[in-house]
Amino acid sequence: MFNLDGKVALITGASQGIGRATALALARAGARVAAAARNTEKLAAVVAEISSGGGEALAVPMDVADAAQVKAGFQQVLNRFGRLDILVNNAGITRDGLAVRMKPEDWETVLRTNLTGALLCIQQALAVMLRQRWGRIINVSSVVAQMGNAGQANYVASKAGLIGLTKAIAVEVASRNITVNAVAPGFIATAMTEPLPEAVKADLLARIPLGRMGDDIEVAAAIVFLASEEAGYITGHVLDVNGGLYMA
Ligand code: NAP
Repeated sequence: MFNLDGKVALITGASQGIGRATALALARAGARVAAAARNTEKLAAVVAEISSGGGEALAVPMDVADAAQVKAGFQQVLNRFGRLDILVNNAGITRDGLAVRMKPEDWETVLRTNLTGALLCIQQALAVMLRQRWGRIINVSSVVAQMGNAGQANYVASKAGLIGLTKAIAVEVASRNITVNAVAPGFIATAMTEPLPEAVKADLLARIPLGRMGDDIEVAAAIVFLASEEAGYITGHVLDVNGGLYMA
């Protein structure tokens, strides 16, 4: 579809789900891929899958909430590939509960991973991209950032924060030919949505005009597009991949 030959991409949360699908899709498009997450066994499997398909990949064990680990992870990528062109901030967690009873640690852990983690990665990536005068940063937000969701104040705040972060950084770095965009997935079939009670799933499905859950490769395809040369005039944008669940 799009040609990413010669590009190097780092994807956080690449050990499973949307991040894994994105790592595979970017590699299929020709990028050399750094797959980052905490679970080293799953990362090794993703790297092996890319290698067996003829691509080049590196496992980067890293907790995005830990600044020292993020710094070391990016150094590992530069040591191996010598450059970085594409950053996908996809790592994300939930700690659901009603706001009135939300524990401070559940608020802080989610904000630290989903939002601060993205900033830490962006800072490391920009140090390279600003020199290269080319870059693509894609932040994985969520439809709930746009429509709200009961029981997810921490997650929704983190994902809405990512949209603000996307727009602020987009303005800061546009003059260096670096674009910064977000994708806002709807209800995607992954380990994150698997535990939802059947009644909640049925209710959500009834509200989705396309009448089905999304697939991780459909989110990955939107990310590959935003990472491409062809998307070079799109910045500060939020691309919905939600089956029509929310129309901005
Ligand atoms: P998932 O299967 O639970 O995957 C989450 C990924 O994030 C895993 O690879 C996990 O890897 C990684 N991760 C979590 N905490 C991390 C940390 N501290 N440092 C590094 N990596 C970390 O979920 P998913 O559905 O693929 O979600 C991917 C992204 O899409 C998330 O940001 C999520 O909020 C967003 N999203 C999902 C949906 C959906 O319906 N599924 C909808 C909207 C948005 P390790 O555990 O190995 O670290």
